[in-house]
Amino acid sequence: PRKFFVGGNWKCVNTRPLQSRFESDNGTGEDVKKIVTVLNEAEVPSEDVVEVVVSPPYVFLAQVKGLLRLDFAVAAQNCWVRKGGAFTGEIRRLLLRQNHCVVIFEFVADKVAYALSQGLKAIACIGETLEQRESGTTMDVVAAQTKAIAEKISDWTNVVLAYEPVWAIGTGKVATPAQAQEVHDGLRKWLHSNVSPAVAESTRIIYGGSVNGANSKELAAQPDVDGFLVGGASLKPEFVDIIKAAT
Ligand code: 13P
Repeated sequence: PRKFFVGGNWKCVNTRPLQSRFESDNGTGEDVKKIVTVLNEAEVPSEDVVEVVVSPPYVFLAQVKGLLRLDFAVAAQNCWVRKGGAFTGEIRRLLLRQNHCVVIFEFVADKVAYALSQGLKAIACIGETLEQRESGTTMDVVAAQTKAIAEKISDWTNVVLAYEPVWAIGTGKVATPAQAQEVHDGLRKWLHSNVSPAVAESTRIIYGGSVNGANSKELAAQPDVDGFLVGGASLKPEFVDIIKAAT
């Protein structure tokens, strides 16, 4: 059985109006403290049932790591793929030493391979554009993206695959449960045929794109949806409801 996985990707700035207790744009340490306080006080299923990882901007990584409950993990949002040097703005692996995991959006295959080689876990994000979906090539696109990763790694143990349709990210347009299930099922079949049945069975395939407290339950009920990667809603108290969607 695959353990349900919920990632909160805080990204950089939340451009949408926030409700309730988080009157913030995720820009200050005060906002970060508020978010962490809500998470620390939340009653959620145990870590045997759901794995929770939050991914603050680099500048808050240490702060969040220091304040956050121990049953939730902290991830970086990205990772530089070479040794240190004069690379302005890049954060290299060693500076991420205390974090066990990275969320990866750009140059996905190379970064995943590099992160694993350095002993990190990776959440690798793939997904099609609206144009690709409308032209009927979704499965080809996500299969090609997964193939690019599969060609560069041999061990999938530390990889979580995040299906994030580009048209659903930050748009409020969530994939329907049927749309998500169809792609996740296709990805699992792809892994089965092209990597191995064991990897297909054990790799978590999570969904990201406008997940919220209200839509997470039905998505989570799909047999091949093994969790979520949450953007906007991970800055709000409803992130706790998303964590609970596992059960
Ligand atoms: P939203 O949940 O804001 O659509 O973002 C999804 C995402 O990109 C998570 O990594």
